[in-house]
Amino acid sequence: MSATADGDGTRVVRAGLPEEEPYAAPLPGPVFAAHYHLPGDPADAPYSYGRDGNPTWTALERAIGELEAPDGDFADTVHTLAFASGMGAISAVLFSRLRPGDAVVLPSDGYNLLVPVRERLEGFGVEVRTAPTAGDAQLAALDGARLLWIESPSNPGLDVCDIRRLADAAHEHGALVAVDNTLATPLGQRPLALGADFSVASGTKALTGHGDVLLGYVACRDPRLAADVRLWRKTVGAIPGPMEAWLAHRSLATLEVRTRRQAESALALAEALSVRPEVRDVRHPGRPGDPAYAQAARQMRRFGCVVSFTLPDKAFCERFLAALRLVDDATSFGGVRSTAERRGRWGGDAVPEGFVRLSVGLEDAADLVADVERALERAAGATEGAGPA
Ligand SMILES: *Cc1c(COP(=O)(O)O)cnc(C)c1O
Repeated sequence: MSATADGDGTRVVRAGLPEEEPYAAPLPGPVFAAHYHLPGDPADAPYSYGRDGNPTWTALERAIGELEAPDGDFADTVHTLAFASGMGAISAVLFSRLRPGDAVVLPSDGYNLLVPVRERLEGFGVEVRTAPTAGDAQLAALDGARLLWIESPSNPGLDVCDIRRLADAAHEHGALVAVDNTLATPLGQRPLALGADFSVASGTKALTGHGDVLLGYVACRDPRLAADVRLWRKTVGAIPGPMEAWLAHRSLATLEVRTRRQAESALALAEALSVRPEVRDVRHPGRPGDPAYAQAARQMRRFGCVVSFTLPDKAFCERFLAALRLVDDATSFGGVRSTAERRGRWGGDAVPEGFVRLSVGLEDAADLVADVERALERAAGATEGAGPA
């Protein structure tokens, strides 16, 4: 069942904050520095040059580490590295770990930029195998693999796999396991507690939630893996700006209320869509009856803000998107304002022409459902003014 996730609200408002100090800001502002005062031997310096480290990142990284940490584990057993974007973080794990001749298993239905990543990896002599997320199909591709990449729930199809089962199998084959935790956020699912070696995410989406920051992170427990990722970040320079890191940290305080509200409204919308004759294949992992629900309920604590569904065709879909008033036609997800898009417009995802990915924001659920129902009626050519206005 949807767990109550006791304590999350308390954890997020204090995550990563420094010790209380009289007359200091509870969340210190961004530190803008390309270099720091650096007397003597730099080996033990916490901060030396701005591409290596920044106190504003450190605070954010501590906060995310506290949220990704398995229950009962001290947050300082989790090493977190912030990146300029989710792709910066994903590339850091893949490219810091894989060498020519290695095999990697990727989801065939994951984030669409995994397609060019795959081509680049193959160009470097890495063997790339793919399998869908549903039905734990990646299990069959693990023999001799160095790394298993999981995306659960997958974007945009919202399939879910058994992370613990896949991680155990991968480890038996000697492979490391990374989970893209973007859609769930650490309040929805904690991959490290489910056996993954890396939890990797785009902070651009629900984690920061306001659609105004690009960010990514890698969290892991093995300090040697973390050191490789850190060196990769320093080498390619995929570092977040201090302002973005600070905005992200500030946004974490509302993560619990945002993800709770979004998941509740997403479920209400999915229920409303599921009885519409013109709508097919409504997906939301938190809806009992969804093909992913049973497994999602076992490993997730919140089910996310995304609902996907299929409309009769491209033209219907475009009419629907144009008729929405409370839902912006835009990509991305997880923001405070609802967005939707015809996913097929990008290419790269194996989805039908009428496939819609809708991200539920913080509007009142009743308003949102009414707006979506009205837009469906408009798109179907229903008479002007029909339905709830
Ligand atoms: C958006 C997204 C990414 C990429 O993140 P950016 O911050 O845009 O670089 C990776 N994985 C998933 C599942 C995403 O939705």
